[in-house]
Amino acid sequence: MDFKNIVQDELGNLVELYKHLHANPELSCNEKSTSATIADQLEKCDIDVTRGLGGYGIVGVLRNGDGPTLMLRADMDALPIMEDSGVMYASKVKAKDSSGNNVGVMHACGHDVHMTSLVGAAKVLSKIKDSWNGTILFVGQPAEESMSGAKEMIRDGLFEKFGQPDCCLATHVFPKLEAGKVAVRSGPVMAGTYQLKITVRGVGGHGAIPQESRDPIVLAARIVTSLQTIVSREFSPLTPAVVTVGSIHGGTRANIIPDKVEMEVTARFFDSDGRNRIYESIKRICRYEAMAMDIPENLLPIVELDEEGELPATINDQKLSETVKDSICEALGENCFSEAEMVMGSEDFSIFRTAVPDGIPCCLFFYRSNFG
Ligand code: ZN
Repeated sequence: MDFKNIVQDELGNLVELYKHLHANPELSCNEKSTSATIADQLEKCDIDVTRGLGGYGIVGVLRNGDGPTLMLRADMDALPIMEDSGVMYASKVKAKDSSGNNVGVMHACGHDVHMTSLVGAAKVLSKIKDSWNGTILFVGQPAEESMSGAKEMIRDGLFEKFGQPDCCLATHVFPKLEAGKVAVRSGPVMAGTYQLKITVRGVGGHGAIPQESRDPIVLAARIVTSLQTIVSREFSPLTPAVVTVGSIHGGTRANIIPDKVEMEVTARFFDSDGRNRIYESIKRICRYEAMAMDIPENLLPIVELDEEGELPATINDQKLSETVKDSICEALGENCFSEAEMVMGSEDFSIFRTAVPDGIPCCLFFYRSNFG
């Protein structure tokens, strides 16, 4: 049976699955019923499914004789956002976020579409086994938004238990694309990232007697301004990078000089040179701005890198990207293909590429469906 006929046959069920997933989103690390739904769907395709890997992660194995192993990954978590789309199948789900706040929950990042696509691929591939050989790993990954799910699945033995794949594919919806288009590019596609916490320290005192204090609010303001020169003055204008101070907190009232300001910074880059340059420059700027304000040596700013949350850039393998492009053109027609843009957002799919010493060829491609 031709794969297009299978898709036509399954489309109604897949749209229903999408609506069910959309109406029942779950936050990162809480994907209990979502992962069960996807595992059940894969089992219906006679795929051997293991549940509970790295949290609520699932792995379906479809063996079909000798040949390469291909891993397909779909992320499963939703975001703490109240849905206001007005669609019939809109989410009404509320949950507690990681800080204990009551929040609305929504598949605002489209992971419901990714899971539906994974199930769609399973339905098709399990029915056309005479046209391919090898093994396919169907991976439902939890906690992409918190950027911990891929790491947790690897730590829990993804590659030891199911074999190291010869290549990995993942996809993400991309609303800037025209509906019906699929976009891919070879090489860097999404940025690497880490977060830093900067504790700016000073000597507190009365707001009317500043000469007896060392004001961390003024110092923090200087640091924020100076950090802007890392990308604009230390990077080539042709090298993409971002340094954003996304959070700053200090002080309690107008007439008190506090002794501390806390800031959080996100960095984006595409290679280790950019990664290290940003980190070293932030440390240098914090140190010397503080010294310029006569902050004592024992109260210089503390810069802490969140190593656990760090992600490398998503780099698409050239040969695999060309195969994906050729497949899009062959299956859907050349007019459905478009060259993907590099974006400064980050993805923990990048972890699968760097999880083994020699690296695994990976490709993340983008599309915009007509759903919803
Ligand atoms: Zn996403």
